[in-house]
Amino acid sequence: MSDGGTSDRARGVLLGLACGDALGRPVEFETPARFETPASIEREHGRVTEMLGHGTHGQPAGTVTDDTDLALCIARSLRDREGFDPADVAERFVAWLDGGPFDIGVTTREAIGSLRNGTPPDEAGQRVWERRSEGSNAGNGSVMRCAPHALAYHADDRLFRVSRESSAITHADPRCMWGCAALNRVLSALLDAAAPETAVERALDGIGDAPAALRDAVAGATDRDPSLLSASGYVVHTLETGLHHGLTAPSAEEAIVRAVNMGDDADTVGAVTGAVAGARFGATALPERWLDHIDEAEALRSLADALLALDPARP
Ligand SMILES: [Mg+2]
Repeated sequence: MSDGGTSDRARGVLLGLACGDALGRPVEFETPARFETPASIEREHGRVTEMLGHGTHGQPAGTVTDDTDLALCIARSLRDREGFDPADVAERFVAWLDGGPFDIGVTTREAIGSLRNGTPPDEAGQRVWERRSEGSNAGNGSVMRCAPHALAYHADDRLFRVSRESSAITHADPRCMWGCAALNRVLSALLDAAAPETAVERALDGIGDAPAALRDAVAGATDRDPSLLSASGYVVHTLETGLHHGLTAPSAEEAIVRAVNMGDDADTVGAVTGAVAGARFGATALPERWLDHIDEAEALRSLADALLALDPARP
């Protein structure tokens, strides 16, 4: 466990997220599917423990994807606006989409496209959600990017509400909204050096109104048989698997490696796991050899410091 204090753990959240994203990016599923299973990753790479170049999306080693990009949008907005400003977050999302990202989820693309056409941020995700059917309406596209709120609101009762509203900009399914709230409450508890079981209890205390599938995933995450975990893009799976690895592995590195080697939605499951493990063990526990490859590392460090320093008494 880190003894580097809250600041080290806050940096760990954002840097851990980026590490999981970048380590998983080369082995994320593609359409047509490749490197989708642990067996196919094993055949191609052995156990993925180093930042790899090429692979899915054909990028250099250490390249982050939409998970980190969108978390950066939120983190910069929180810093510059000194709190959650949905219109400002939406503007940054639109600018990011206009930059032509190489990795983007279907729901996120539709919702940000709608924002660009003038839909208000509190309606865009809802409109997309209403068009989608069960089975494709509760993806992990908001839970992967929501962690910066846990830093900015870590000692603030508004964390649950802000996390849900931020999700709803693109992902308005209750499982997605409450998934962000649950993850962020776990992260904020870990920032205060809570033990994993305590962090889960604090999250459960605040998500009584969440759908049962989401509550059950949070409640059972640390006890689940690892062979029953899924690395799919369904938010309930991603959160459960991210919490499991992040809260039970013996080190931050091992947590992220375990998550990424499940394949499937490897970068996003890696990112959620990395945020949790980074909060638990601190940034100083993340491998330097990984961080050396991540161009955004310094920006993420200074954003973590800035978000943690926001005055909790701000309006
Ligand atoms: Mg991604």
